[in-house]
Amino acid sequence: MTTTAKAVKSYRNYINGQFVEAKETFPVYDPATEEVIASVAVADAAEVDRAVKAARAAFDSGPWATTTAQDRGRILFKLAEKVRANAAMLAELESRNTGKPIVEAEFDIADVATCFEYYGGLANKVTGSVNPVPANALSFTMREPVGVAGQIIPWNYPLLMAAWKLGPAIAAGCCCVLKPAEQTPLTAMELANWLEEAGLPPGVVNIINGVGETTGAALVTHAGVDKIAFTGSAAVGKIIVKAAADTLKRVTLELGGKSPNVFFADADWEAAVDGALFGVFINQGEVCSAGSRILVEKKIYSKFVEAMAEKAKRIKLGPPLSRETKMGPLVSKEQYDRVSSYLALGKSEAKTAIGGGRPREFAKGYYVEPTIFYDVDNSARIAREEIFGPVASVIPFDGEGEAIRIANDTPYGLAGAVWTRDIYKAFRVVKSMRAGIVWVNHMQPTYVEAPWGGYKQSGFGRELGPWGMEEYLETKQVFVNLDEAPIGWY
Ligand code: ADP
Ligand code: MG
Repeated sequence: MTTTAKAVKSYRNYINGQFVEAKETFPVYDPATEEVIASVAVADAAEVDRAVKAARAAFDSGPWATTTAQDRGRILFKLAEKVRANAAMLAELESRNTGKPIVEAEFDIADVATCFEYYGGLANKVTGSVNPVPANALSFTMREPVGVAGQIIPWNYPLLMAAWKLGPAIAAGCCCVLKPAEQTPLTAMELANWLEEAGLPPGVVNIINGVGETTGAALVTHAGVDKIAFTGSAAVGKIIVKAAADTLKRVTLELGGKSPNVFFADADWEAAVDGALFGVFINQGEVCSAGSRILVEKKIYSKFVEAMAEKAKRIKLGPPLSRETKMGPLVSKEQYDRVSSYLALGKSEAKTAIGGGRPREFAKGYYVEPTIFYDVDNSARIAREEIFGPVASVIPFDGEGEAIRIANDTPYGLAGAVWTRDIYKAFRVVKSMRAGIVWVNHMQPTYVEAPWGGYKQSGFGRELGPWGMEEYLETKQVFVNLDEAPIGWY
C-alpha cells in the first residue's frame, strides 16, 4: 500500500440494519493512480449466512410482510431523493473507483435515481387477473414476492446495476442480499447509509462484500435464498446455474455479448461513423452490450474504417475526474491484462487500424488505447469472445443476407444495431436479429421503461420496466368454489 495524503476510507458490511466488523478486509483501488482508496470488510460464509438469515427473518416474520405497496413505493422515492441530493459525491466516487469519465458517471447516478423512482411508481400498480373458469367458481391470481433474492452485480456500472436489482425487488416486496463486485463496492456501501432512513426495516436489504468465488458462491448455494439475480460474465453465469441447481433457485442472468453493429452503404455517413465509435468505446468498452463487432458493407468498407480510425484518434484519454476526458483507464489490473492479451491476439488475427496497446502519455493507470482491428474474420477469437474493453473488430459483408448471417453467427444474443436509411431493410434486419435489444440508427441508449436482457448465451430473464418486476414475483392462483353441493364423485 502506498502512503498518500488522502485517508483510506474503510467500509463495513451492512447486515440486518447494522454495519458490522469483519475479521478480514480487502483493498479497493483507483485504476487511474493504482493507489488504494478504500478498505472493505470481507463477508465470509458465516456472515453470508447471517445476512441471508436476516433477510429470511425480515421476509418471513418481520414488519416487511405487512408493508403496503404504497409504503414500498415511498421508500424507493426516498432513496431516489437521497441519491439525487448526493449525486455529485456518488458520481465522483464512482468515477474514481471504476475509472469511467466523470461526465458518464453523472449520467449513471441520475439513472440510478430514475430507476428507484420508476419502481417506486410501479410498486402499487401490480395487479392480478380474474380467470374465466365456469360460472360456479371464481378464480383469480395474486402476485406475491419471490422471497429472498441474492443479487450479484458487476463492476462496469456499479450503483446502476445495484439499482436495477434493488428497485424492482423492493417494489415487489422481496428481501435482498446484494453483493457488489469486489472491484467496485464503494457507491453501494454509501447507499447502505440511507436504507434505514428511507424506511427499510432491518434485514430487508443487506449488502455484503467479497470475491465471487467465496462470498458470491456462498450466496448462490445458500438454502435460504429463493432467487439469484446475476449480471456478469457468461463463464460465471454457467457456474451459477449449476450451483443453484441443488436448491432449484430461480435464476435470472444478464451475461455478456459480442453484439453486431451493422452499417449499410446508405446509412447517414456522419451519424454512422460516430455511432460505430460510440457503440464500442463508451465506458472504455466495458459494456455488456458493446457493439464490438462492426459489420460494414463492402461498398463503403475501406472509407469507413479510415473515417473511424481518423475520428478515434481524437478520443481524449485522461484522468477520470477531468471533464474533458472521454475515456479513462480500465477498471483493474486483471481487466487490463485480459484486454492486453486480446490486443496481442488481435494483431495476429487481423489488421490494426488504430491503437493496439498502452497509450504512452500515462506513467500509471490501466489505460488502453481505443483499438480498431479490421479485416476480421467472424471465426477469429476477437470476433467470438467478449473482450470487455475498447476493442473493435471490423468485419466486411456483402449485402443484407450476409450481414444477417454474420450478425447471428455468435453464441451471444444480447444486443445489435442496424444503420440504414431504408426502412424496409432496417426492419427486415430487426426481425432477423436473434438479440434481446435491437437499435435502429443508434446504439446503447437504455431506458428504465424498456426491457433489457439477452437471447442465447447472453442469459435469461429481463430487467427494467414491468418485465424487471415480473422476475421478483410469483403468481398464486386462488380457486373459490361457489357451489355448496358436495362434489359427489364417490
Ligand atoms: P469479471 O471476471 O469481469 O470480474 P465476473 O462475472 O467474474 O466478471 O463478476 C461479476 C460478479 O460475479 C462479481 O460480483 C463477482 O464477484 C461475482 N462472481 C464471480 N465468480 C462467482 C462465483 N463463482 N459465484 C458467485 N459469484 C461470482
Ligand atoms: Mg471474474
